[in-house]
Amino acid sequence: MIYNFNLPLSKLLTMTLSEEFIDKLKICKTDKELKREFKKIASEDPDKYFPTKELRNLGYMRKLCNCGTYFWTVLEEREVCGDPACSGGFQVVINNPSQIQLSYIEVWEKIVEILEPRDYVPIKRYPCVARWNPTSEFTIASISAFQPYVISGEVEPPAKKLLIPQFCLRFNDIENVGITGSHCTGFVMIGQHTFVPPEEWKQGELFMDMHDFIHEGVGLAKEEITIHEDSWAGGGSFGCSLEFFSRGVELFNQVYTMFEQTPDGPRELKLKVLDMGLGQERVAWFSQGTPNMYEAIFPYVLSKLREITKIELDLELYNQFSQYSAYLNIDEVDDMDKAWQRVANELDIGVKELKNKILPMTALYSIAEHARSLLFAINDGKLPSNVGGGYNLRVIFRRAISFIDHFNWDINMADVCIWHAKELKDIFPEVSEHLEEIREILDVEREKFYITKKKAGKIVEKVLKKGAISTETLIELYDSNGISPDMVKEAAKKFKLKVKLKVKIPDDFYSLVVEKHEKTEQIHATKKEIELNLTDIPETEPLYYYDYTKISNKAKVLKIIDNMVVLDKTVVYPTSGGQLHDVGTINKQKFKDAFKQGNYIVHVLEENPKFKEGDIVDVEVDEYWRTQLSQHHTATHIVNAAAKEILGSHVNQAGAKKTLKNSHLDITHYEQISTDNLLEIENRSNEIVKEGIDLNLRFMPRTEAELQYGMAIYQGGAVPGKKIRIVEVPGVDVEACGGTHLNNTSETSEIMITKSQKIQDGIVRLTFTAGKATQELKERNMKLLDELNSILRVDSDKLVGRANELLEKWKNLNKALKNGKVNSNDLELTSSEVFEGAVLKELSQILNVKKDQLPTKIKKLHSEWEESKEKLKSMQNVLSKEFIETLISESQNFDNYKLIIKAFENLDQADLRNLSIKVVKKENNAITIFLNITDKGIMLTGMLGSQPSDNSEFNIGNFIKDFLAEFGGKGGGRKDYGQGLIPKTDIEIQEIISRIESKLFRS
Ligand SMILES: [Zn+2]
Ligand SMILES: [Zn+2]
Repeated sequence: MIYNFNLPLSKLLTMTLSEEFIDKLKICKTDKELKREFKKIASEDPDKYFPTKELRNLGYMRKLCNCGTYFWTVLEEREVCGDPACSGGFQVVINNPSQIQLSYIEVWEKIVEILEPRDYVPIKRYPCVARWNPTSEFTIASISAFQPYVISGEVEPPAKKLLIPQFCLRFNDIENVGITGSHCTGFVMIGQHTFVPPEEWKQGELFMDMHDFIHEGVGLAKEEITIHEDSWAGGGSFGCSLEFFSRGVELFNQVYTMFEQTPDGPRELKLKVLDMGLGQERVAWFSQGTPNMYEAIFPYVLSKLREITKIELDLELYNQFSQYSAYLNIDEVDDMDKAWQRVANELDIGVKELKNKILPMTALYSIAEHARSLLFAINDGKLPSNVGGGYNLRVIFRRAISFIDHFNWDINMADVCIWHAKELKDIFPEVSEHLEEIREILDVEREKFYITKKKAGKIVEKVLKKGAISTETLIELYDSNGISPDMVKEAAKKFKLKVKLKVKIPDDFYSLVVEKHEKTEQIHATKKEIELNLTDIPETEPLYYYDYTKISNKAKVLKIIDNMVVLDKTVVYPTSGGQLHDVGTINKQKFKDAFKQGNYIVHVLEENPKFKEGDIVDVEVDEYWRTQLSQHHTATHIVNAAAKEILGSHVNQAGAKKTLKNSHLDITHYEQISTDNLLEIENRSNEIVKEGIDLNLRFMPRTEAELQYGMAIYQGGAVPGKKIRIVEVPGVDVEACGGTHLNNTSETSEIMITKSQKIQDGIVRLTFTAGKATQELKERNMKLLDELNSILRVDSDKLVGRANELLEKWKNLNKALKNGKVNSNDLELTSSEVFEGAVLKELSQILNVKKDQLPTKIKKLHSEWEESKEKLKSMQNVLSKEFIETLISESQNFDNYKLIIKAFENLDQADLRNLSIKVVKKENNAITIFLNITDKGIMLTGMLGSQPSDNSEFNIGNFIKDFLAEFGGKGGGRKDYGQGLIPKTDIEIQEIISRIESKLFRS
């Protein structure tokens, strides 16, 4: 049949997707199933899905490989497809097939040279941290730059036909990096993209553009090219694709995205998207014929690493190895040991020898590769941490450090980043902009790693005692303590147990860890709330975007569901973007909540409305409420900008919440913020306030805003819409933000940072107030200070000194009560030390309580200190010589011995014992029985002097035991010493003394 290329695909689709195919595709639940099913459908009718006319014109023939894939080749004799599994590994190194040698950067220059004259617009790369994309933290492909809003048609593409050198990050193949010679965590995917309606779609041309690039631009003979028929599916869209292979290397994949999956089955996309992603690394490698990709992409960095390590490339061995290194691809290998054995067999060398020779070489590749990914990721605004995407950065950083430590190399990862920046200057000058900051971030990260390593030994020992270590435990150890499997292995070696322990580390450990994190994040992402049915009314017109002082309007009631009301337009701000909703009234009836559902604003009244649908109503927003929230919101932008200025460009907003009381802003930062820095941020913020800058609030086409201000505008996360609202504090900050904002920064009034706390690794929360909230806070603080002044009897500037003194002396007196050693200095407060700084903040840190609890806490300390003084006084009295002499003089005669019975209150038991000893030492004829009334009951202590002890039958231990039994108490002792407790009793102390006396004199 004759294929007509000018026929719009929409018509082709209705012709091609038969009922049978639609049914087959409809049941596909996952992208994987879709891809598999559609590959079959497309290859059953290639003329309808692939540019077969162009392929035939170029002399390609269609063949079927044993693996089931249809492929195109110009070679009569070729029987297998280009997949390494079918064609026997990579063969690039032998007889480099490319006639033109291109350096890494020249690959990009070449494609621009060939395609720019054909109306492609080369554009700058997007950040690899995808702030604009709600579905993915990192940019994982060139097409990600345009997800989701360009693809969905909501936003205009920067150009209909474009080229982009997009740096991407993917962390599912970490273990392969360095080993297989072709895996990277970070790579540039050169995108050839078109975004056109079906009638402008020209598949044949798009195919020819890339064929010309690879054939003419890179100088690859057609004999060296194998093209596979394949398909692709992702995020609900799918289409067929052509994969270009040469010598076992997939050079690029041209995806013709034409359909989307819906609950009713597949449907043609309104906007057809060409998604061609070409690995710049792979093409450079291929064109240069280096033994692996790394040698082709960062030769300068490798030369620097080799200078330091003296690890030279053993080219002969490596060339042999590289032909088989694909066998070590962890994705396709179940048992890594066997895979290494297989490679060793092929090379006719022992496994151990092979590893000893190869691993130092591959370690250098890993270090260089990981440094490059870290450079881009940190530069683009992500920090290593233990959460989300930051976790991946930590994993690769630690993997690199493990290699460095293992081989004992003197390599600093920050240096490696700097070499990369230099090597990439001509294509990505922006990664040289924050190198000093990156050094500091990596220094802190390395510090954290070694601290972890230090404590690893003990933790691992504990776990090992329980027995063998499972994969789950390994992941847990890594997750919660940052202990890597290598650390576990090392610790296990040192830990010699009788039980034989084997720690089996899964080959794909890091992938498992990363996967686990992705899963937990997915769970958080898929929360869904109840939805009201609002489809039959028009969307609400919001009136709060331009002037926060506009707080009333007339509106028509469009819908009422119970106490929920939707109007045609409203000044009421619904909770969104971390800003709390407004409160106010509709026709004098209070509403307590307002939320957004799609583009509808729903007001929640306290009671069911007295008005009905169709009525015209008066809407009013509480003015104080609105002003305070706007102050807190504008303050948030100001503090964010100030923090970035003071701490560095790595600072980005990670979350924010604005309420009446205060606002908090979570920023990305790698350590606690010092007090000095906090003060600087606060000062800078207030400077911006005082400058009285007019805010610029407006809607802009998204693409224009991105071009003008960059991707940093998405501080609050992704925002949908073709047009986005830009909140600009000229010269300070620009953000895409939908909140209510002041008209001038001076309306913020004073900003006060009240707290800074690390809420998770890599994220610090700043809490602050603005406007009236600051005023109120200041008043509260004044009151607190007044209270504290009166307790400690000093002025505010001396409070810190006094409190420190009190704390110290409180502790000292507590000690003195136990050991009897009193320093008279501790009996008064004298400090007049002056403190310069935030007094209340300092005090609450010293005393470890919230500010509001300071008076209570200090009062308590103060009265306890006073009480201790009293106790010490009575203790000193009790032990004084005079007192003892008095006691002895008051004794009564018992069997010619001197019996002393005396009651005390709340004395320390040790003091009572000391007193007894002092008495019997002074008077060896004495028998003492002391009672001590305490909270628990009455303590009894008895002691005999040496005379009664040696000469009488009387046993004080037994006596006390018997006596206490009468009260249900417990006690006892020896002949010369006894003690015990009478539990709480109503009996008067005098009565107890009488009973002791009568029991004594009776016996
Ligand atoms: Zn095959
Ligand atoms: Zn905002």
